[in-house]
Amino acid sequence: LPALTIENLTKTYDNGFQALKGISLTVAQGDFYALLGPNGAGKSTTIGILCSLVNKSAGRVQVFDADIDVDFPAAKKYIGIVPQEFNFNIFEKPFDIIANQGGYYGMPRALAEERAEKYLKALGIWDKRDTPSRALSGGMKRRLMIARALVHEPKLLILDEPTAGVDIEMRRSMWEFLKRINAEGTTIILTTHYLEEAEALCRHVGIINHGEIVENTSIRELLRQL
Ligand code: ADP
Ligand code: ADP
Repeated sequence: LPALTIENLTKTYDNGFQALKGISLTVAQGDFYALLGPNGAGKSTTIGILCSLVNKSAGRVQVFDADIDVDFPAAKKYIGIVPQEFNFNIFEKPFDIIANQGGYYGMPRALAEERAEKYLKALGIWDKRDTPSRALSGGMKRRLMIARALVHEPKLLILDEPTAGVDIEMRRSMWEFLKRINAEGTTIILTTHYLEEAEALCRHVGIINHGEIVENTSIRELLRQL
């Protein structure tokens, strides 16, 4: 059973623009998969559909055993999403942001607080737990979004351009963290327009351009072709 199955997924926005022209892909459990493509290719649209921020026009999406049209609550539990833009309340404190996110998944408060501590520590921002999030640096905000996405310990972690605008040192430490949780069993999908990032992290890569998957292969094979 794959972690993610996408079949003939299309998206036409209200203005008539066709952002996805029927993409299909599967991501195996335990894989580290990059969706690679230039700006405007359709990466965020795909991610948006996976977390129901964007309504698909047609096609099928299944997360482990849960079809998102049939059982979205189950799919939601399997997935952790790290969006591209910071979308938390800037007056809220990191600890509360994560603990409150647990409520979104119906977790008991005590468990959500335990996870908040665990992941703020794992991501090196525990000392900022009571600092209003607006005062965090860009790199800290990114790590906070990763911690928030992990509160329910999802089997599939999806990150949309996680290291865009992050300095090289921070990028490397985020890479190490992601490699570790992948090694511990979490399937990871990330979008990126850095080949270098896909090369450093991923086993498989799908290349998307103009709303179509133009290549779907192992990173090794891709690098051999270049
Ligand atoms: P990427 O994440 O690969 O940069 P996106 O999925 O954000 O690409 O966008 C794919 C295409 O869809 C782009 O051409 C973008 O301008 C267009 N697009 C995105 N959102 C909307 C929208 N709400 N309405 C119309 N077009 C959109
Ligand atoms: P609701 O509609 O239940 O109020 P929101 O859409 O306001 O939920 O989302 C609440 C929080 O959960 C936001 O921070 C949002 O980014 C995040 N979120 C939304 N959908 C998902 C998802 N599928 N997985 C993880 N976090 C999500």
